[in-house]
Amino acid sequence: MSNKDYTVRQLLEMEACTNCRFCADVCPAVSASKEGKLSAPYRMKGLKQILKGRTGLFRRLLGRKGLSEEEWKAYSDTVFRCTLCGNCQEVCPVGIHLKDLWLSLRNDLLHSRFYPEKINMIRDNLGESHNVFAEDNEERADWVEDVKDSPEHGFIKERAEVVYFTGCVASYFPLAQKIPVALAEILDRSNVDFTLLGEEEWCCGFPMLGAGLRDMFLPFAEHNLQAVREKGAKKAVFACPSCYQMWREHYPRGIEIAHASEVLMDLVKQNRVPLKPLDITVTYHDPCDLGRGARVFDAPRDVIRSIPGIKFVELPRNRENCQCCGGGGNLEMMDARLSSEIAKMKIDEILSTGAQAVVTSCQQCVRTMTTYTKRNKIPLEVMDITQLVRKALKK
Ligand code: SF4
Ligand code: SF4
Repeated sequence: MSNKDYTVRQLLEMEACTNCRFCADVCPAVSASKEGKLSAPYRMKGLKQILKGRTGLFRRLLGRKGLSEEEWKAYSDTVFRCTLCGNCQEVCPVGIHLKDLWLSLRNDLLHSRFYPEKINMIRDNLGESHNVFAEDNEERADWVEDVKDSPEHGFIKERAEVVYFTGCVASYFPLAQKIPVALAEILDRSNVDFTLLGEEEWCCGFPMLGAGLRDMFLPFAEHNLQAVREKGAKKAVFACPSCYQMWREHYPRGIEIAHASEVLMDLVKQNRVPLKPLDITVTYHDPCDLGRGARVFDAPRDVIRSIPGIKFVELPRNRENCQCCGGGGNLEMMDARLSSEIAKMKIDEILSTGAQAVVTSCQQCVRTMTTYTKRNKIPLEVMDITQLVRKALKK
């Protein structure tokens, strides 16, 4: 355990908190659980206590050694019951980088050995198989079998202009595999020269960062970057906002990157995707890492509006104020019930718009919202932007 897990900026920022609680008002974990101890001010108060307890001067002045084992465990539990949605950071009037702080805190707790057991599973899975599900990494591109008229090379070429980096969830989770299938068909139809990395694609590192396993991340990033370079690609494309965020913020630069919704928008503008009318009312859910994280708000909306016949309605909370679906921050693994309660709030908000379908740009949002609607027999279609475009593709 170490105060070195925090930057000087983070230590100063914490002192600037005015306890206005704007962050708690928008926190989906607090709203769904009704537990104030999941809020940012509570978490920061605990963190300050921990940091002070570690310094010799404070220990001598206060006459205590810091937190007891029980207190550590209780505190750690609240830290990992957070979707890392960043809504708290978005509204903080003094500009505290709360999301970064939560990541540093998770890292710190991991060093301190007071962290949920399940983190070990993430560490073991990634260490052994290079994907978060402990699946055989050679099977990463098996979803290509579901692509209509897939070429003999199975979209794994020696060299190509563009690499489509698929990500773990979309590669292995059956429901999410519909996203790469749709995107591959659209890119192929638009004559984009693209390749997959196949078994050479390793986890982007996002689950490691979210779990506090920061030290484990670097070899994965180096491997992926090298694999893309070997394809001679100028650009990497991501349908997963978390992979995109990792490459944007944590990978060394040197290659152009884009989210699939931005690529789709460009292709539509260039008239490379022939679209037929769809008679449907849809709303759009901004994935946290793509919206608040990467500020990509317009591209997916422009794609939706470019489909003839579609009626588009906004959610009451949209763009940077969009409420998380409940699927972020490894929350589903840590507290499936809380994740589902957050999903319920999201689905209720979607239903209030009268939309027949909710479109998003993230496999994890699709997974979380579909799980909730299926389980509760709610007649609402949930789809990714790639699936919507594929649906509208002219034969
Ligand atoms: S990141 Fe999201 S879930 Fe976590 S404390 Fe902030 S608002 Fe709440
Ligand atoms: S919004 Fe910012 S200043 Fe207000 S309580 Fe939350 S962290 Fe503190």
